[in-house]
Amino acid sequence: MSTEEEPKRRKVLDATLGLKNIMGRHFLAIEQAYRDGKPTAWATSGTPVELLYTMDVQPMLPENSATVSAAQHLSKNFIEIAEEQGFSYDLCSYFKTNIGAVAENAEMIKGGTRKPTFMLSSDVICDTHVDWFQTQAERMKVPHFTIDVPHIVSNTNQRQYEYYKKYVSEQLWELMDFIEVHTGHKLDIEKAKKVARNSYELGTLWQEIFDLRKNIPCPVSTRDTFGGLFPLFTMTGLKAPIRLYKRMYREAKERVDDGIGALREEKYRLAFEGIPFWYNLKFFSKLEQWGAIIVYETYTYAFSKYVNPNVTEQMVISKPIEAMSELMLKFWYIYDLQTRIKKYKEMVDEWKVDGVLLHNNMSCRPNSCGLYDLKRHLQEDYDIPCLIIDCDMNDPRKMNETQLENKLSSFFELLEQRK
Ligand code: SF4
Repeated sequence: MSTEEEPKRRKVLDATLGLKNIMGRHFLAIEQAYRDGKPTAWATSGTPVELLYTMDVQPMLPENSATVSAAQHLSKNFIEIAEEQGFSYDLCSYFKTNIGAVAENAEMIKGGTRKPTFMLSSDVICDTHVDWFQTQAERMKVPHFTIDVPHIVSNTNQRQYEYYKKYVSEQLWELMDFIEVHTGHKLDIEKAKKVARNSYELGTLWQEIFDLRKNIPCPVSTRDTFGGLFPLFTMTGLKAPIRLYKRMYREAKERVDDGIGALREEKYRLAFEGIPFWYNLKFFSKLEQWGAIIVYETYTYAFSKYVNPNVTEQMVISKPIEAMSELMLKFWYIYDLQTRIKKYKEMVDEWKVDGVLLHNNMSCRPNSCGLYDLKRHLQEDYDIPCLIIDCDMNDPRKMNETQLENKLSSFFELLEQRK
């Protein structure tokens, strides 16, 4: 085949194809736990899933399940069922997808979930997580534990910070007592160390894959990262995803060494802020028609979580609870605006980004609040072109494809003029 006839992009990394198996194993482990009468827990993203694995409780993440529904074009139906129950059009579409999926008793492969032994939430990312699990825990009549994580703002001083760390640590110790009461399982400190080491290795491997994306051309596209993200928050602490990420890294490194990019002709390097549109991942392939590739996504990077220089491997293993508290307080997604702008500027320089796409996610306040200020600062202070996209991660009714294409077309004209 001549170069002209070749597709613009290369296929996903071979290693990424193994993701289906890994995630399949995760869902099988959930089914197995039910068969064996083992304790299970719903967990929101941002909670220390590692503690669940340590105490032999099988986690399930309804957010992950909601994306499964969206990818199969089932989320709209589930969301409408939730709205029929009275939940507002403007509420989080992950939450409503879960409400509808539970109401329909959907199978796990369609994004359904099972009644857990207990629920674990946290407001580390958003208060919806807490209210969502409160609603479902009350409906399902299961116990619910929530971890309150204070947010750091630009004026938080060291004394407050130290107090917050202690406050979160105390709750994590309480959580272990709670798990013991509801499952009879006790903390095994040696197992905790192993799980913590695995979690650290998984997170740092993901960062190394991201570091490879700094190369021109970029060896890894969103075809690898949007799906590749899931083990980070469903299976962190286990060995299996580490092997997968090592394979992804090796393959991406080979591409870098051979000067091969995920896109054959890389013209524009973009960053994407926000949650992807799980029901329309084709959107991201469309960018290729302009020669554009996304080289960095805050969302997928944030879940690598070990981005805090205070948290070393040694600390993770020797003081896992303190390390966990520190990580929860410094999660990428809850940075105050000032830090967020600073981090963005650093990212744009390091990943050599030409422009930023900002997803103004209509059903997610944490994602959307501050987005226009972020855009203004990036454009005015650092001359970084930005485009706001009004959409939603799980509700296809909120995507206007024609309008989006027109906006993108103008954005790429702008980028072309700057080249
Ligand atoms: S999408 Fe936004 S509002 Fe919904 S659970 Fe996630 S962070 Fe919270």
